[in-house]
Amino acid sequence: MSSEKTPTPAASNFIRAIIEKDLSLNQFVTKKWAGSPGDAAHHETGVVDTAKIRTRFPPEPNGYLHIGHAKSIFLNFGLARDFDGVCHLRFDDTNPEKESQEYVDSIKDAVHWLGFGWENHGESNLYFASNYFDFMYRAAESLIEHGDAYVDEQSAEEMRINRGTLIEAGKDSPFRNRSAAENLVRFREMRDGKHADGSMVLRAKIDMASPNINMRDPAIYRVRRAHHHNTGDRWCIYPMYTFAHPIEDALERVTHSICTLEFEDQRPFYDWLLEHLAALGLLSLPLPKQYEFARLNLTYVVLSKRKLIQLVEEKHVSGWDDPRLPTLAGARRRGYTASGFKLFTDRIGVSKADSWIEYTILEDCMREVLNIEAERRIAVLDPIKLVIDNYPEGQTEDCFAPNHPLKPELGKRTVQLSKTLWIEREDFMEVPSKGFFRLTPDGMVRLRYGYVVKCTGCEKDANGNVTVVHCEYLPDTKSGTPGSDSVKVKGNIHWVSAAHACAAEVRLYDRLFKEAHPGEGKQEDGSDRDFLADINPHSVEVITAQLEQSLKDAALEACFQFERHGYFIVDKNDSVTGKPVFNRTVTLRDAWQK
Ligand code: ATP
Ligand code: MG
Repeated sequence: MSSEKTPTPAASNFIRAIIEKDLSLNQFVTKKWAGSPGDAAHHETGVVDTAKIRTRFPPEPNGYLHIGHAKSIFLNFGLARDFDGVCHLRFDDTNPEKESQEYVDSIKDAVHWLGFGWENHGESNLYFASNYFDFMYRAAESLIEHGDAYVDEQSAEEMRINRGTLIEAGKDSPFRNRSAAENLVRFREMRDGKHADGSMVLRAKIDMASPNINMRDPAIYRVRRAHHHNTGDRWCIYPMYTFAHPIEDALERVTHSICTLEFEDQRPFYDWLLEHLAALGLLSLPLPKQYEFARLNLTYVVLSKRKLIQLVEEKHVSGWDDPRLPTLAGARRRGYTASGFKLFTDRIGVSKADSWIEYTILEDCMREVLNIEAERRIAVLDPIKLVIDNYPEGQTEDCFAPNHPLKPELGKRTVQLSKTLWIEREDFMEVPSKGFFRLTPDGMVRLRYGYVVKCTGCEKDANGNVTVVHCEYLPDTKSGTPGSDSVKVKGNIHWVSAAHACAAEVRLYDRLFKEAHPGEGKQEDGSDRDFLADINPHSVEVITAQLEQSLKDAALEACFQFERHGYFIVDKNDSVTGKPVFNRTVTLRDAWQK
């Protein structure tokens, strides 16, 4: 994909069309909402829901959110906003392991940072699925009582074998036809800690011959002695995700439950479960419906929580908010913006076809918004000295640089010129290559916002490296003064006055992986390749740059375009007053294009 500048029209979003149709058919006009999640009896006490639709973003608090989650957040919160609905932030914390408060806090931060919240019409729609454990347990008992669930004591291995295959029907468990009363006793024993972890499960009783393997009596509760961050040691049985998730949606009266494609085969069970619980009077109508979309796959990054945890725990990066990570916390520190993510998600659209998105598309979106949002500043990243020999020693004069070429209303700022300046090492060539129009011995160039200068020579160290460049300025050529362009030059270079500049740490970040599909493919011996082998050993370079004076007091997280270099942000963790540290967000052009 090229980094072409013509804006792509907003890509399509098929879920939008579904919602428009549902609303035109008045699907939800009698739906009641009692102000908080609950069962049918609870919502019966409520009023007709003022939210036209309800969606939810349901992260598991077992890691930091990443760029893929941003797609889901813009989708769920965005649709709710557009259709006069609400979106719930629901922590899907029904799995007792691996969840922590740190993750909960970071997820809330990320959702806010992207511009969304869960306060709606004076109501907080922030929920924890573990608060529904009591209902889930009751739902399971009801299914047992009505012959729709049974306790299976087969070993995991037996269950796997008897599940059958894609071409072969499964076999009924020998425990499948126990009476409801017997099942209830067993299930209560499971709950009361009378049985070992893994010794038995509760299964929905559906159809062991179903062509959809997910309908062959899926497990819905398991014995697991684990401490839960919310419910402590109260439970030693926990619901399976496929059982918990539809119930969470229904208790919250979600209308459109949007998930990624791998759950498509779970949809029949989603509907089976909710229809049965509604028939038993436990859930009110209309029931939520599940819709699947293609998850975001992005080249040059990994978006698997397991791999992200590995990168952090094995210290391949500095932490969850390392600016090279595709976590939203890392992207924020890198200088990516919420508006850039919005543009990106609009541009890639929402479809049902899995595909890979080129990382350059995301970078182009960030460039596009930063080009509009970021003020311009001057920074010399690889400084050498330029001495203007005919400029008076000790003299300083003001030059005026526009803050934003596209926004004249932002005015100009003063930058000081003096006898000794810092310029980029690469802006001087003793032996110029063809087409090089910057400083060369005898060459002329304009000091941006200042004078035209004529090079007179250079000094070198013992190794032949240029240490100082000398020049003379042409007094009648100052930018912005009458007749200043009477001398025509081809090159234009940036500079900062050495006496005024501030030295600062600048981190030049590049991609964390050098391959588009980290870890893809096989090794010579046939084993899987390790994604860590594709880490880019040059993903960060730390330099000391010379910045214009005004940057000394830049606020935390302020973003700038350093002219001719790219976009940079003041690091929010490591900067201190008067000593900013800058992170490079993205270069002006894509250096990875071949
Ligand atoms: P895991 O299941 O490995 O813990 P997950 O990526 O599914 O990780 P969740 O916390 O369950 O993480 O995700 C929350 C929501 O974000 C889900 O609704 C999921 O569909 C969505 N989501 C996760 N990854 C992506 C992705 N790459 N693209 C779009 N949506 C995603
Ligand atoms: Mg998940």
